[in-house]
Amino acid sequence: MRVAIIGGGAAGFFAAITCKEKYQHAKVVIYEKSKKYLSKVKVSGGGRCNVTHNCQYVSDLVKNYPRGGKKLKKIFKQFNNHHTVEWFNRRGVELKTEADGRMFPKSDNSQTIIDCLVETCNSLDIDIRLKCPITSITKTDHGLQLKNRKGLMDDVDRVIICTGGSNKKENYQWLSDLGHVIIDPIPSLFTFNMPSELVTSLMGVVVPDARISLVGENYKSQGPVLITHWGMSGPGILVLSAWAARSLHNKSYQYEVAINWTTCTREDEVKELFKGNTNKLLKNDNPIIELPNRFWQYLIKKSGCDPEQTWQNQPKKNKNKLLKILYYDIYKVEGKTTFKEEFVTCGGVSLDSIELNTMKSKSIPEIYFAGEVLDIDAVTGGFNFQAAWTTGFIAGQLN
Ligand SMILES: Cc1cc2nc3c(=O)[nH]c(=O)nc-3n(C[C@H](O)[C@H](O)[C@H](O)COP(=O)(O)OP(=O)(O)OC[C@H]3O[C@@H](n4cnc5c(N)ncnc54)[C@H](O)[C@@H]3O)c2cc1C
Repeated sequence: MRVAIIGGGAAGFFAAITCKEKYQHAKVVIYEKSKKYLSKVKVSGGGRCNVTHNCQYVSDLVKNYPRGGKKLKKIFKQFNNHHTVEWFNRRGVELKTEADGRMFPKSDNSQTIIDCLVETCNSLDIDIRLKCPITSITKTDHGLQLKNRKGLMDDVDRVIICTGGSNKKENYQWLSDLGHVIIDPIPSLFTFNMPSELVTSLMGVVVPDARISLVGENYKSQGPVLITHWGMSGPGILVLSAWAARSLHNKSYQYEVAINWTTCTREDEVKELFKGNTNKLLKNDNPIIELPNRFWQYLIKKSGCDPEQTWQNQPKKNKNKLLKILYYDIYKVEGKTTFKEEFVTCGGVSLDSIELNTMKSKSIPEIYFAGEVLDIDAVTGGFNFQAAWTTGFIAGQLN
């Protein structure tokens, strides 16, 4: 059996290894269009590779997938984060868990993951061909024929497509031509540009626990917010961008977000923060321990309060403004940035075009899919790689 894996990323390597381990006599070839394989693994997690996430149950795992969600439950039963840990362990790579649940190789170096995948491929005699873009697949009497732009051909029996995400619809045309439905690909996991907001002068400040919501819509997130020179970033922002990816795209990335800088869940609770307060000047009277001092000074200024006066001595109007912006601080967003972030694609090959328990194409049964090429994507935290490992593992079985 000749098996072609198209795409030398996380999903492609996992599919190739799984396949060759199961079908030892098969000829397995990875076709990678660029001159490097596993390039996203290399840069992932800031060079440390956030391999997966420490979720105890599959029911917790699936909550992190804005696209795929419940449908993934079944396939995660076959191969989930616990299997990933065991898989790498068995091949000599130990993973460690950070306080927030993200899992990295103990070496804190993504090269460890690359070495593990490449060495495993080499030991199994999997052929890795670089600079080999595949541009079309044709069904023949004997199987499938792969072609590149020059028309050069290879005949194979099975193909696993692991070409990753792309925001360009034309990159999916050849898959659409094969009868697969393509859900409009658009970006997910991006940061918010706020060119007209003064908050950008606080670049570098991190507010460790904020609640962010999209004004006029039901999308919400909670987590750290990092102020950047162009706007806002950090897990709290990225998570919101993922859940609201389609809606924000439809708004051409022009919208407003409201941020609750407190842990209060009701607006009337915010007043309580100032109850029984001292004679401290407001600038020294930050009622939210986690709020960085620079940020507190900024909020005082924004409210019109006088930092050199006590809370009691502030005019009522300014007090109300400060209470308001602590709980519901509105920012105008004008555009997005994906620079250096862990961006992924929302959309791709529809899960309705494949049999989920095998990853087999419904239109051409010799074709399988794995990884971000599918309409599956997650928030940050190791969940996107988990989807690549899981779908790669299942597709590689060629069931
Ligand atoms: C900067 C950055 C950091 C990230 N960090 C993390 C992280 O720490 N944890 C996490 O879970 N996720 C992370 N992600 C997301 C994660 O990298 C992806 O979800 C994951 O790599 C998807 O794997 P894949 O194999 O499906 O696709 P890819 O990794 O994109 O691999 C697809 C491969 O296919 C090749 N290819 C495409 N078309 C063709 C063709 N026609 N013929 C041949 N080859 C082709 C491409 O060149 C590429 O090498 C990060 C993403 C980015 C951009």
